[in-house]
Amino acid sequence: MGTYRGFAELLDAIERLAERGARLCQIGRSIKGEPLFAVHFGSEAENARTAVVLAGVHPNEWIGIEAGLSLMERLAATDLGDRSVIVFPIVNPDGVLAVEAHLRERRRRFVRHNARGVDLNRNFDAHWSHRGPLQRLLPWVFARGSTPASEPEVAAIGFELSERRVDRAVSLHSFGGAVLFPPAHSIWPVPDYAEHRAWAKAVARAAREEPYDAQPCSWWSKGITHGGLELDWFHERHGAVSLLVECEGGPSLSLSRLLQPFAWFNPLDLGRVATSVAGAVLPFVTGAPVPKTES
Ligand SMILES: [Zn+2]
Repeated sequence: MGTYRGFAELLDAIERLAERGARLCQIGRSIKGEPLFAVHFGSEAENARTAVVLAGVHPNEWIGIEAGLSLMERLAATDLGDRSVIVFPIVNPDGVLAVEAHLRERRRRFVRHNARGVDLNRNFDAHWSHRGPLQRLLPWVFARGSTPASEPEVAAIGFELSERRVDRAVSLHSFGGAVLFPPAHSIWPVPDYAEHRAWAKAVARAAREEPYDAQPCSWWSKGITHGGLELDWFHERHGAVSLLVECEGGPSLSLSRLLQPFAWFNPLDLGRVATSVAGAVLPFVTGAPVPKTES
């Protein structure tokens, strides 16, 4: 795993946040019975405007979990006023444990699913029945589940947020170095395109000296559309400004890295990437005003 922390260490770090004012809630259990957590910061009022952060939806994308932890360290030290932030720090714990077991046994495996073989980021209740060309071609890779939110990991998020005023959301993935915004299921711009673009550009510039890409999700994937993404769900179900950050991955400097999927998704300089992505999304999740777009 190199410098990356294992699942047990990540859970310890999440639990330690409670000593610094974060409120940890268990919101359910995964298919294999692992606890699913939400971590709350800021106002406890149910009608507080809320930003949501997801990490660890795709278990190979470990850098997203580390960026989420770095972000939570900052949130614990931030006065959020009348706003709140809810972080789902490891959405897919069964997948994360499977990745860790493969790494420790030196197996080279590509893991994308939960324990039931579902891609959790095709299982959200937003255009779930839309299947894009890749989903038709590779249905086992982009398996969407039996019904919208059929998976406990996705259902728990929906339930936790059902009474919340979610106005901003960001999901932390890798790799590719991009800040994506809706839509994923269509190529037509969303009505609030300008606000999304302003935020995506601002986060992309703050994430790295050479800015990340900032585009609608379907444009970034060259017109290939996808149904059931969290990105569209936050935008359509909650009316939130919704971002998906693809953290930069690792360089394939050697054959051993080229053959190990974990190395594609996770940069060697974990500290730099986690810290800079956390810093880049902090103004967005803490309620800063919409950035002015450059001319
Ligand atoms: Zn992903």
